[in-house]
Amino acid sequence: MINLVLFGPPGSGKGTQAAFLIEKYRLIHISTGDLFRYEMSHHTKLGQEARAYMAKGELVPDSVTIGMLRNKVEKHPETQGFIFDGFPRTIPQAEALDALLISKGTEVAGLISLDVGEEEIVQRILLRGQTSGRADDNDEATVRKRIAVYQSETAPVFDYYAEKGKSHIINGLGTIDDIAERLSDVVESFGKD
Ligand code: ADP
Repeated sequence: MINLVLFGPPGSGKGTQAAFLIEKYRLIHISTGDLFRYEMSHHTKLGQEARAYMAKGELVPDSVTIGMLRNKVEKHPETQGFIFDGFPRTIPQAEALDALLISKGTEVAGLISLDVGEEEIVQRILLRGQTSGRADDNDEATVRKRIAVYQSETAPVFDYYAEKGKSHIINGLGTIDDIAERLSDVVESFGKD
């Protein structure tokens, strides 16, 4: 199995690149943001729980997020691997992911971070907000809050996997194809060193 963590600040292009990677490597894409939006649009209890946090640009509590992620992973016992997008976003989430994968005899092969500067991502998200219908993409203060939460709670996850020799950074600026090629180069280096 090959399990990848696609990492980077909000608006860094994780969803776009995940679409390319699932096609190329036949992996299951798990985006916790997409899962929460699905739950909200179907008015489930989980969706109700997540809504207020998401609207404020805060993280949904780990207990809720980890349970949802575990359920999703359990649904795909036959897969060749997963792309985790928007997860793990905290150290406890990373520890839970590692424990879950170990229990299945596998592990995170690597984390790849898309490097994009703050002003670029704010502009990208506000532009996306004009068409995405996402309330959290429309308000600059909420967007900046998400970036601040990323810096304080999520960025440490990069160091957590770096200590295990698993973190990689690629330049997140350029065309979609350029970035996809940089990503493929990293994915293909996994298992070779
Ligand atoms: P983006 O990467 O553009 O911020 P996402 O779709 O990944 O967007 O996430 C949107 C929101 O969903 C986050 O701001 C947060 O409130 C919630 N969320 C998504 N993934 C997680 C997670 N792993 N832990 C906690 N909250 C999450």
